[in-house]
Amino acid sequence: MLNVSKPETDTLAMRRPLEGRTAIVTGSTSGIGLGIARALAQNGAAVMLNGFGDPVEIETRRATLAEENDVDVAYDNADMSNRDAIHMMVERAVARFGQIDIVINNAGIQHVAPVSEFPVAKWDSILAINLSSAFHLIQATFEPMKGRGYGRIINIASAHGLIASPFKSAYVAAKHGMVGLTKVVALEGAEYGVTSNAICPGYVWTPLVEKQIEDQAKSHNIARDAVIRDIFLKNQPTRRFATVEEMGALAVFLCSDCAASITGTALPIDGGWTAH
Ligand code: NAD
Repeated sequence: MLNVSKPETDTLAMRRPLEGRTAIVTGSTSGIGLGIARALAQNGAAVMLNGFGDPVEIETRRATLAEENDVDVAYDNADMSNRDAIHMMVERAVARFGQIDIVINNAGIQHVAPVSEFPVAKWDSILAINLSSAFHLIQATFEPMKGRGYGRIINIASAHGLIASPFKSAYVAAKHGMVGLTKVVALEGAEYGVTSNAICPGYVWTPLVEKQIEDQAKSHNIARDAVIRDIFLKNQPTRRFATVEEMGALAVFLCSDCAASITGTALPIDGGWTAH
């Protein structure tokens, strides 16, 4: 007799492309990192969150992500400017999840000043958090990924990894460095099923950008709408901010089996900014 019951394989698990995968997303207590962590969890991956913020808010977010998506979600407060803390975070993630399949290097900070006046301490911390942290996290996770024949490294660079703007010397240098690191790791991982790609967002409305809008409005003494229109979205031809959901969707695709041949790229999500 014809079996018309729902096939057993048609479960939530079978429909989620990242089921059984495990991920670390740095700087995922807000903004793009949180958007990517949410997208990975929605698609079945266990996720280690990281970043700073109010402990109660972070715990609520962690528990909600886990419950809503029926996946394991952990949190580690490792400071991305500290190599030892990064390695300890990886040890804790491996102890909890068994292995790390996906690394999203996203933590980042910004400081804007003319190069002659750029504070040395800011240069050092931007290079440490926005660039060296990715090197340390890759170093701590790469060999086991190669050994298992699957790994996904996604570096959140920026349109500023491809082009420059004045007054952002440290940020632009770090993001260009991130794109270079992405390519090297892609070549070293290529034969082992480990891909490495950079996502290069234009402006995305997050707390990092919100702070810059406020700062610019104050320093130019102009209204916030004018700052958004005439400064931030001036070079972004779509005239809209990209969204964290768009970042999450691309990250999920890059982690999927369909993206096995996409490696060594720097993919802009910038509304056409770098097409200029
Ligand atoms: P955000 O400020 O909302 O988030 C930054 C995250 O990094 C937070 O979770 C914060 O706690 C964490 N963080 C900062 N310093 C840290 C440290 N020392 N150790 C651990 N975590 C730390 O910023 P965002 O806009 O979501 O930016 C995320 C990434 O995307 C950054 O690398 C940024 O350069 C990049 N980016 C953002 C935009 C944009 O328009 N928002 C555009 C291009 C690239």
